[in-house]
Amino acid sequence: MKHNFGAGPCILPQDVFKQASEAVLDFNGLSILEVSHRHKDFVAVMDEALDLVKKALNVPEGYSVAYLQGGATLGFTIAALNMMRENKKAGYLNTGTWASGAIKEAKKVGVNVNVLASSEDKGFTYIPKGYDIPNDLDYFHYTSNNTIYGTQFHETPKTSLPLICDMSSDIFSKEINIGDFDLIYAGAQKNLGPAGATLYIVKDEILGKSTSPFLPTYLDLKQHVDKESMLNTPPVFSVYVAMLNLKHLIANGGVKAKEIENNAKAALLYNEIDANPLFFGTVEKEDRSKMNVTFKLHDESLSEHFDKYWKEAGIVGLPGHRSVGGYRASLYNALPLSSVQVLVDVMKEFGIKHG
Ligand SMILES: *Cc1c(COP(=O)(O)O)cnc(C)c1O
Repeated sequence: MKHNFGAGPCILPQDVFKQASEAVLDFNGLSILEVSHRHKDFVAVMDEALDLVKKALNVPEGYSVAYLQGGATLGFTIAALNMMRENKKAGYLNTGTWASGAIKEAKKVGVNVNVLASSEDKGFTYIPKGYDIPNDLDYFHYTSNNTIYGTQFHETPKTSLPLICDMSSDIFSKEINIGDFDLIYAGAQKNLGPAGATLYIVKDEILGKSTSPFLPTYLDLKQHVDKESMLNTPPVFSVYVAMLNLKHLIANGGVKAKEIENNAKAALLYNEIDANPLFFGTVEKEDRSKMNVTFKLHDESLSEHFDKYWKEAGIVGLPGHRSVGGYRASLYNALPLSSVQVLVDVMKEFGIKHG
């Protein structure tokens, strides 16, 4: 059994893998891969997959959920197009690669982007604080967890503007107040299911209010909400597995229980990073992500040896993103505490050997 610390696509519960594989062979007599998305059996799956999101996150009245394709990358464009209003101006926080991507795509569709704060000056190793938010903006956009750099917002930014969040890599990892947001989007493959589906949670009152002269049908969230995520062929298998995973999540205490586990996993690993003289965490302590833990060796010449150690322990997916190097341990919901303990033991052992 491997310990998968990969950043995405990521580990899911073994139970979910098993049930998913069974449905590939037999989903009411057909394979889930060949069943019509209009068949009542799949319509029931979609309904449940939408409903379970509402349950898991306590989505209040007045919000809708939709599954689309295109990943969070298309979400950058969809968010900008759907939230564009009279001002055609929006505020963004630049906290790394994905936030920069959101900024770039908003500009492409004609939003005048005001970068309210950026942590680029220090290699995106912190979450900016204490910036002003003008009130003539159509909306405010941020990235709740910066998957590549390992920083995370531990508080929702306060603003009276419509609030948009790319929550790809920390949705379902902790309790959140959906009522604070006008639009949330998240690629499934970080904590929800297999790649292919992208989750949108949207306040109904923002639908159909775009001022963009260009709004293709597929990019209009109102179309997807009105058609209950069946505007066109949805990513059937990805939605099916997301449904299984959400069922599993809720049966195991929901996001509240996961938050406690995720806090314990992160604390275990950060404690070792701070105690072990060979390693250091790469981001400001108060902004450390509980989902993607980034760290480095003080002496990079030891990396080949350290790599051998963790690989021998059955660990996979530990190298940092190719743009930053070092190490990144992703601690998504399905990764057990025991896997984190394996990594910590490897680091300890390595520390004794080279200390
Ligand atoms: C992975 C990731 C993305 C990109 O997601 P795709 O589904 O590959 O388009 C965007 N934002 C964040 C925060 C991510 O972690």
